[in-house]
Amino acid sequence: MSNIILRNGSIVTDTKQYKADIRIVGEKITEIGFKLKKSEDKEQEIDAKGLLILPGGIDPHVHLSLPDYVPKEFRWSDDFESGSKAALAGGITTLGCISVPDQEETPLGTLERESKTIQKEAIADIMIHPVLFNLTEEKLAEIPQLAEKGCSTIKIFMVTDDFDANSGDYLKAIQAAKDANMLSMIHCEDNTIIKETSEKMIAEGKGSLKNYADSRPVISEVVATQKAVEMCEETGAPIYVVHLSSKGALQVCEEAQKRSLPVYVEGRPIFLYLTREEYLKPEGALYVVQPPLREKSDVKALWKGVQQGSIHTIATDHAPHTREQKLNPDLNISKLVPGINELQVMLPMLHSKAVLKGKITLEKFVELTSTNVAKLFGLYPKKGAIQVGSDADLVIWDPKEERVIKDADMHSQAGFSMYDGQKHTGWPQITIRRGEIVYKDRKIIAQSGTGQVLQRGKTQTLSN
Ligand SMILES: [Zn+2]
Repeated sequence: MSNIILRNGSIVTDTKQYKADIRIVGEKITEIGFKLKKSEDKEQEIDAKGLLILPGGIDPHVHLSLPDYVPKEFRWSDDFESGSKAALAGGITTLGCISVPDQEETPLGTLERESKTIQKEAIADIMIHPVLFNLTEEKLAEIPQLAEKGCSTIKIFMVTDDFDANSGDYLKAIQAAKDANMLSMIHCEDNTIIKETSEKMIAEGKGSLKNYADSRPVISEVVATQKAVEMCEETGAPIYVVHLSSKGALQVCEEAQKRSLPVYVEGRPIFLYLTREEYLKPEGALYVVQPPLREKSDVKALWKGVQQGSIHTIATDHAPHTREQKLNPDLNISKLVPGINELQVMLPMLHSKAVLKGKITLEKFVELTSTNVAKLFGLYPKKGAIQVGSDADLVIWDPKEERVIKDADMHSQAGFSMYDGQKHTGWPQITIRRGEIVYKDRKIIAQSGTGQVLQRGKTQTLSN
């Protein structure tokens, strides 16, 4: 059992920074104060002088598993073990995994199957978000049972034929989620617009991935986001718009927030740093993500949303593929291998590019990447907080360390980082997950299978 005192660090929460010692006993924080007395000989002391102590990052949106039927060329490179390693090395102690059902599997079946894999493989703690496809009465009836089993989220993809044909069933699902105090995570892109646009472009000989951004126009995101907001308004259900990419879609959410609707928005690093010009580069296909990269004006609007609070969280949507998968010459705007790996570098890059550049404060950094996520996903204050009684998920962070991102240092089995060669300032030195030191001296020192499937409570609304 852990007995640790962290001394002399500067604690950062979503609301303040202060100097104090932290005592960890077992999995929990048991005391916070000045010059804590050593309680017994076995207590390990860590001097964090000059360093920050942050609550462990919580990335609510990653892809680390797929059912067996998905063909090899589309499978993720990471599993719960390698994904956990990437996360912990980057200061993230909790992950939310988008869990795709096996054929005909019900949400409870997905929860059970994924839980077994996680118990074997994970090192980080994991939240499961069951994806709903091909809804039936049985599947709908299971939604409240998910909540009873500590799973307080569902994931809906609007960008499918199934959604277009059966949107009434999805409205029922969102209503059922609301009634059980759950959060509905929604991928907002309009399937019809994307399909029509892509078909037309291919017929005109414009199917190359260089033109990828045009195949999923901003309007397809705006229309779908409007529809999601309508579903929120109709039901009163809290909705969480994943990976929002455009100014237009953000405006739809902001207008809803002004009317006090519980519309929450997830930002994504790639949309904060890069624009659609990437697709024109020789290896532009590496940057194919859904939705696509947008214009400079969108990037600017998203940063404003982050600063002003209309964007509530930042998540990677870590969806790892190898270079070979991403650069397959057979791919085009209708045959995609979308997704990119970002878990290990999200926090250091956000620290370097946003906190140190004065775009956001350290407190805001913690709010976006830990506290707000814990609240929305039913984990607060067990996680997302540095409080007596909270899980000892802590990151000892050196705000001054400069490190160059290198492919060879990535734990993701994707085997590369799109940011290879970039130098960023501010990196985790030690990561502690539920009292256990799991990352130190740039090495993962914990066993797979030590991560837990998290039992979550109801979603907490945030003030807009
Ligand atoms: Zn995703």
